[in-house]
Amino acid sequence: MDNDVKSVLNKEQDVNELGVSFKCCQSNHSNAPRLHAKSKRFSVKLKLYREFALATLSALAQEKKQKPSREDSLSQIHALDAYSCTGVAALQWKKLLSEDVHVTAADHEDVCLIERNAEKNVITCLPWELDPKRVPGDPKKHQTSSEIFLCQADARALMAMESFNFIYLVPHKSNSSCLEPAFHSLSIGGVLCLVVPDLSVFARAPHVVRRTFSSQVIKTEYLKEMAARVVLAEAARSAAKHNKGISVMYVVSQEDFLLIAVRVHRGQKAVDSSLDNVAHLLHCRFCEERTFLPNQLAPIDNPYSLLSCSCKSTNVGKTAIILGPMW
Ligand SMILES: [Zn+2]
Repeated sequence: MDNDVKSVLNKEQDVNELGVSFKCCQSNHSNAPRLHAKSKRFSVKLKLYREFALATLSALAQEKKQKPSREDSLSQIHALDAYSCTGVAALQWKKLLSEDVHVTAADHEDVCLIERNAEKNVITCLPWELDPKRVPGDPKKHQTSSEIFLCQADARALMAMESFNFIYLVPHKSNSSCLEPAFHSLSIGGVLCLVVPDLSVFARAPHVVRRTFSSQVIKTEYLKEMAARVVLAEAARSAAKHNKGISVMYVVSQEDFLLIAVRVHRGQKAVDSSLDNVAHLLHCRFCEERTFLPNQLAPIDNPYSLLSCSCKSTNVGKTAIILGPMW
């Protein structure tokens, strides 16, 4: 038996995470190839990130409750698990935060696995179809403590058509195309929790990074930090197109993944100040000393003077390169 099949069979066992029991794959193999793909998309390694997402959403719900006099203080936080896969993140939110959150789980592939996992945890999935007549922000039906919405649609289409306060985004490939719809969908004060998969691409394929994030990178000792900054710069640009600014809440790095949480702010001032954080980086190729170039229109007379190292004076040729833009 080859390893792939073995791993699928292992994933048929029940997994328990934060009180939610679920399967990563279905025992019914009628749709085997696609479900196999789905079981591959599910990652046990993201457990920590799901916990971070839950904690962030919980803080957001607390904050909303504590706002007195606000008209919407009684309404729910609208949360989206955009590439839900097994539905575990959405089910954890519902189970632990109950009626405080209005949960939508979405997946572009077969959603019956999410339905079965919800059933296991005594949660009802209410099917939800995209309606072109609705405008983002239109009120949604109140959700009880044992219901979630389930939408079979591409996350980008869903985010373009509906508004949310919280989005947990785990794209299985590049996430740059999800950023713009996500910032279109997020309301002011909303939070995006974005998982960046496959950090090794920043080391082995700088041309791919240039294509997806419009940024120049090379392999450096601070690769993970650079990856986070490059993604944040792309996020700031994407948000700016929707007249929204961002502030960084936290960045978590674990193995080959990053989790980035950013908060959305209203207005041109917020947009400008978040774009001011995006700059090019001057990087010394000899000692890896680096510094951000000032954001100015005029070229800098002697850029090497910005670096504190003396590699330029002791070596011939161009010792530094310009990377970025990054946060
Ligand atoms: Zn140097």
